[in-house]
Amino acid sequence: MEKIKMTTPLVEMDGDEMTRILWKMIKDELLHPFLDLKTEYYDLGLEYRNQTDDQVTFDSAYATKKYGVAVKCATITPNAARMDEYKLKEMWKSPNGTIRAILDGTVFRAPIQVKGIEPCVKNWQKPITIARHAYGDVYKASEMKIPGPGTCELVFTGADGSELRELIHTFDGPGIVQGQHNLCGSIESFARSCFNYALDTKQDLWFATKDTISKKYDHTFKDLFQDIFDQEYADQFAEAGLEYFYTLIDDAVARVMKAEGGFIWACKNYDGDVMSDMISSACGSLAMMTSVLVSPEGYYEYEAAHGTVQRHYYKHLKGEETSTNSVATIFAWTGALRKRGELDQNQALCEFADKLEAACVATIEAGRMTKDLALITTLQNPVVLNSEDFIKAVRKTLEGMLS
Ligand code: NAP
Ligand code: MG
Repeated sequence: MEKIKMTTPLVEMDGDEMTRILWKMIKDELLHPFLDLKTEYYDLGLEYRNQTDDQVTFDSAYATKKYGVAVKCATITPNAARMDEYKLKEMWKSPNGTIRAILDGTVFRAPIQVKGIEPCVKNWQKPITIARHAYGDVYKASEMKIPGPGTCELVFTGADGSELRELIHTFDGPGIVQGQHNLCGSIESFARSCFNYALDTKQDLWFATKDTISKKYDHTFKDLFQDIFDQEYADQFAEAGLEYFYTLIDDAVARVMKAEGGFIWACKNYDGDVMSDMISSACGSLAMMTSVLVSPEGYYEYEAAHGTVQRHYYKHLKGEETSTNSVATIFAWTGALRKRGELDQNQALCEFADKLEAACVATIEAGRMTKDLALITTLQNPVVLNSEDFIKAVRKTLEGMLS
């Protein structure tokens, strides 16, 4: 069989620990044999980030702006223990944070649903994609403990010296306060990323806040979304037969539980944090969750939602067998390859991505899976495979589909 050609390279961001091991296996078994894989390689493994003073992370993000599509392996976000383990010069920032800041993107997460791994909510027939606004609110808040009686106010001093004031509360005893903020520019980017991604994936978009209670803060989110939708997207949504709708956050939560899925749920920062954990745990496993960062300009960075699976890596280093699930990492590759194919009008590449995904699903549905899934499957007598054998089983299914 002739290998599928690529015209434009993908930005490839290698990573750490067990996912770095899977990364190489996936390329060797599932990509190189079938594709003339073209990538511009950036090693985001912690060792090389440290060597380059983290420059490599910045370079990989700039390359994503240049080429438009990246695929990223999970990476270590250093903490005190990692400082010693890797003899780091500095506690380098989270690569995901750095890349997100440069691309100004929104993260979309969706479960990979297969027969035999059933969501706890039985009417969820199709995946629910969570879009989380990744800036501000409680994550960038200032807080104070109020020691006793007194007055607390919000004060804004304009660059021209003008002043706005708003009473928060007149305390007659101890209490607490918190000051949150957000930026219209960031909310607008978030909205555009969501509308673009909805059109791109042909799914309805839901957005919800608590605007009835928060008449300025949350209401601004609602208004900016509606303005951008009306001015820039309403026609395209109508043409595609898609719907954008806004509702209250509590109404959205109630409707999600009754829905059959297949839509994007855009959430403010905190709602997205909490709700994406709810969706992923209801769908079985973090190892079956895809994640893509989409910038308002239309740059895409695909990855798995889980981390570097450190515990499995240490077993691997001791020579013990691991059964680490590579599906989300494979789907990061297929997402990136399909998007590259769409942008380059490379139909063969898109079809390959579809088939590789179908091969993963078919392999699991035939009862061959890693241990994390075997523990929760409703299939009878699943065959538990180790990390490498699962990837080889997917290869066999794929070869059957391609021939
Ligand atoms: P993790 O890699 O998400 O793994 C936590 C646990 O979840 C694992 O020990 C394993 O449970 C299970 N698990 C996750 N992915 C799995 C898979 N593919 N197959 C099977 N089981 C899987 O989190 P962590 O081990 O706490 O974090 C390790 C490193 O990842 C940290 O340094 C963190 O900074 C980094 N991280 C990176 C990203 C990213 O790059 N996007 C995201 C999150 C965390 P069992 O041990 O019970 O089998
Ligand atoms: Mg969380």
